[in-house]
Amino acid sequence: MKINIDGLLVYFPYEYIYPEQYHYMIELKRTIDAKGHGVLEMPSGTGKTVSLLSLIVAYMKARPGIVEKFIYCSRTVPELEKVIEELKVLDKYYATETNEKGCGLLGIVLSSRKNLCIQRDVKQAGDGAAVDSACFRLTASFVRKKHMTDPNVPYCKYYEEFDLHGRDNPLPTGIYNMADIKTYAKKHNYCPYFLTRYAISYANIVVYSYFYLLDPKIANVVSRELPKNSVVVFDEAHNIDNVCIESMSCLITRRSLEKCTTSLNLLTQTVNEAKTNNSERLKEEYQRLVEGLRQAKLSKETDLVLANPALPDDILQESIPGSLRSADSFLSFLRRFLEYVKLRLRIAHVVHETPVAFLRDCLEKVCVDRKPLQFCAERLRSLLHTLELADYANFSSLTLLCNFATLVSTYTRGFCLIIEPFDERTPTIINPVLYFHCMDASLPIRPIMSRFTSVIITSGTLSPLEMYPRILDFHPVNTVSFTMTLARNCVLPMIVSKGNDQVPMTTKFESRQDVAVIRNYGHLLAQLSAVVPDGIVAFFPSYHYLESTFASWYEQHIVEQIQRNKLLFVETQDAEETSLALAAYHRACENGRGAVLLSVVRGRVSEGIDFDHHLGRCVIMFGVPYVYTQSRIFKARLDFLREQYNVRPNEFITFDAMRHAAQCLGRAIRGKSDYGIMILADKRYARADKRFKLPGWIQSQLQDAFINLSIEESIQASRRFLRLMGQPFNKNDQLGLALLTREHINKLIEQNQKDSIISMGKMNSCQVANDLNPTNQSRTVTTAMTLK
Ligand code: SF4
Repeated sequence: MKINIDGLLVYFPYEYIYPEQYHYMIELKRTIDAKGHGVLEMPSGTGKTVSLLSLIVAYMKARPGIVEKFIYCSRTVPELEKVIEELKVLDKYYATETNEKGCGLLGIVLSSRKNLCIQRDVKQAGDGAAVDSACFRLTASFVRKKHMTDPNVPYCKYYEEFDLHGRDNPLPTGIYNMADIKTYAKKHNYCPYFLTRYAISYANIVVYSYFYLLDPKIANVVSRELPKNSVVVFDEAHNIDNVCIESMSCLITRRSLEKCTTSLNLLTQTVNEAKTNNSERLKEEYQRLVEGLRQAKLSKETDLVLANPALPDDILQESIPGSLRSADSFLSFLRRFLEYVKLRLRIAHVVHETPVAFLRDCLEKVCVDRKPLQFCAERLRSLLHTLELADYANFSSLTLLCNFATLVSTYTRGFCLIIEPFDERTPTIINPVLYFHCMDASLPIRPIMSRFTSVIITSGTLSPLEMYPRILDFHPVNTVSFTMTLARNCVLPMIVSKGNDQVPMTTKFESRQDVAVIRNYGHLLAQLSAVVPDGIVAFFPSYHYLESTFASWYEQHIVEQIQRNKLLFVETQDAEETSLALAAYHRACENGRGAVLLSVVRGRVSEGIDFDHHLGRCVIMFGVPYVYTQSRIFKARLDFLREQYNVRPNEFITFDAMRHAAQCLGRAIRGKSDYGIMILADKRYARADKRFKLPGWIQSQLQDAFINLSIEESIQASRRFLRLMGQPFNKNDQLGLALLTREHINKLIEQNQKDSIISMGKMNSCQVANDLNPTNQSRTVTTAMTLK
């Protein structure tokens, strides 16, 4: 259907639309009109992706000067492919409605070499790093140069063909998923990976992973030339702060330092050989470094596998210090620094210090100054290039050490350095670890916020919405949470706070090992397994708690009771085992046997795996999933957030626990025709500080009568709910309320024409920005109310 969204004609590729989608598009348009950033929370399973795509594509077509490029970032490869599939549906709809070839835009998806490579030997090299390394061995500029003189030197014919003609023949307009790109590239003998990477510069819609924008090491390589007037969307962004932090943190172990020594010996040997065989190369490099890194222009497209970990332009404008220019002096400088780090790892107690203290101590002990340290990552890259060492995987630990040197000397604020003598998992074995941890999630995202006109942070679970702008340090012009309009109450959230014996249920530290609490948790699951059909997913706060609880249940014969009703599967820390358990769980749900999956919050199952319809009729959250608060890194982050952003530790800990709990609950419901029970099994959820931090769409379904239930009461409520949901339900029941036709939308628009929402669209963007966000407060849009 074609809809008028605040004066913009939007092609929406379905016959019906949810009220949430309509309101979401209105708010999205207002954010883009205001040329600012937005935080939008939309209930799970209400078609967020297609609304985003329809609105922004329509905007790009109507006002190409305002939005030139649309960058869609998501987390996993299946999610990226889903976005492209939706885009294809939209493109097809444009084709049928306009009698043209489609929407007339070029949309591509970029993934790693592992997913896009078509060179047989390379794509079978193993994991992502191995494929990258194998590709580098065939495509590094010096390898290609050698191939010109010696045809026996292996090369990649697909890259060569792309290099010859690929840039002159841009991809034709259309929407390409990974398979389409590979087919097109194979037909022309181009490398799909480099073809797509190059296509980013001229494509209208780019779909790729968060890391291509947030991790400076990758962003400097891939996303350097995106125009300012782009709209960037971070979908499933409830964990975006953690992604930011990970991209700029590093971890060094004693083992990696030993590998550094081996790599340094290898480098010294290669430098000596180069001095006797071809000293000109080293001299040339010296000369290049005198001119400065930016002028050195070492970076051929294929050589950019070891980019700088620091943010662009922080250090690249300066010329490299004299003490690092010759290969020998750089290697001896690195040796000194390596010895110093080794020395720091010889400890018997925990050390926690700031980067400044670390640098001062480093200067005192081994006379290594801050300035040359900043250039280590770049200097190592230059040396590896000069020595023509294509096996960069051999130097991964040394690269890590140099990245650490660059980061620790570049950022004095927002980072902490913690050296622990033991690994947390093996506290009796000496195994020192150095954590250089980024505590300021705003660091990697700040350049994105300041560079692009509109950045949209969106997900099904972002509550409380005010937290993200605070910890990411930006000012949104629009912060909105949408409720869910339902023709029937297909979600049943309940807080189960006590057992039938009236013992409170909680995973509070003092009570979590209480036999009565564990027994009650077991009884809850066992009784639900007798009532709920098909799949039940139960989440525990940690692997440790899952294991100990399971052992107790086994002794108390609760496992036996559950197995009488359903098959039982457990998520483990081993990814392979978990995949097998998941596949078996799916099979058991498909064939009607029914299954229970015990999994862990922040584990693989809790993120990115949907349990729609019969795969997840009930989700149970045992306890409040607080992060391990004794972790020194986490404590340091809490201190930083309090000092820098005035976020109280308790506030952040609760926010973090509730966003993960909400994420787990959201696994069960993936659409309005779906239904599911959501159980929060801990008395603490009834408290206002937790309950009101749940997303609005869950809160609105959580009735007061269901916030302090015993096991028996929750089982009764589940029975009633399931009986109700078992009644026939078809589209007509939803029409006009939870599902709208074009006529309904037209009526709604007529209604709204008098509203201030419409008049705001006529103001200039500055007025809209002020009006949208006068006090920086978030709003909740109740979609059902507007429809009355
Ligand atoms: S250039 Fe492309 S096709 Fe060739 S090895 Fe690398 S990723 Fe594979």
